[in-house]
Amino acid sequence: MTGKVVQKPAALEAKSPFDLRVDLGKDVPETDVRSALASGDMGFLHSFTTGSTVDGPGVRVVAWTTGCMWRCLYCHNPDTWTMRNGIPVAVTRATEQLRKYRHGLKVMSGGLTISGGEPLMQDRFVVKMFQAAKGMGIHTALDTNGYYGERLSDAELDLADLVLLDLKAWDEAKHRHLTGREPGPTRQFAERLAARRRPIWLRFVLVPGLTDDPAEVDHIARFAAGLGNVERVDVLPFHQMGRYKWQQLGISYKLDDVEPPSAGQVERACATFRAAGLRTY
Ligand code: SF4
Repeated sequence: MTGKVVQKPAALEAKSPFDLRVDLGKDVPETDVRSALASGDMGFLHSFTTGSTVDGPGVRVVAWTTGCMWRCLYCHNPDTWTMRNGIPVAVTRATEQLRKYRHGLKVMSGGLTISGGEPLMQDRFVVKMFQAAKGMGIHTALDTNGYYGERLSDAELDLADLVLLDLKAWDEAKHRHLTGREPGPTRQFAERLAARRRPIWLRFVLVPGLTDDPAEVDHIARFAAGLGNVERVDVLPFHQMGRYKWQQLGISYKLDDVEPPSAGQVERACATFRAAGLRTY
């Protein structure tokens, strides 16, 4: 590393990932960012949150990374798109933070989830965090869009006890419209996880008028069921909790008028996944 890394006093722990955080790593020189990404000795984190019961089994500590290569129209954390909006954190500091929780996590059958942003923008940091967690006997989960899955070797992939994988759309044009990128790498990652028999919890965000086309949902459901390693599907109803972030960041938000799906719409999507033989929550 070169130059001086400024460790801002911003608290690593946040009540929720919905806290808006910007520019916390803006003083980190570009050379240090590159070095951090190559070595994984430093990561950029929006925050740590504790007590999650929806980001993997049991009660979880979640490390929210910054940096994402997608631009999902419904993203509720656009402040995590830019890596330098996160707090620069030495992997040793993040590991010590995790160590504080290890007994509680075991008692509550929980573990560490690394989410984002897109964690695999910082794949070396993720690997080091998972190695540390496994060294403490802590369950690990990776919450990812899968686009950079090829950055992990098979051995590194096996450090994740569980992958929470987002499948956002099936049709290529729809996927590009929704995320800015093509769907192929995510599907290939899912197939690789299946070949290695690594468990997946599939996440699907239901947005009325955007992702609720029955044929689309059916394609995703049949693909997921065919993998053989999808343990459950979480149909996540779209919400507007992140709208204020788009406004405060000055980014054009296209879903202003979209209402969350009704219970009936959510149930219809769940029924499609169940009809394919999958369990929904
Ligand atoms: S992949 Fe996740 S973090 Fe990235 S833009 Fe989409 S919703 Fe936001």
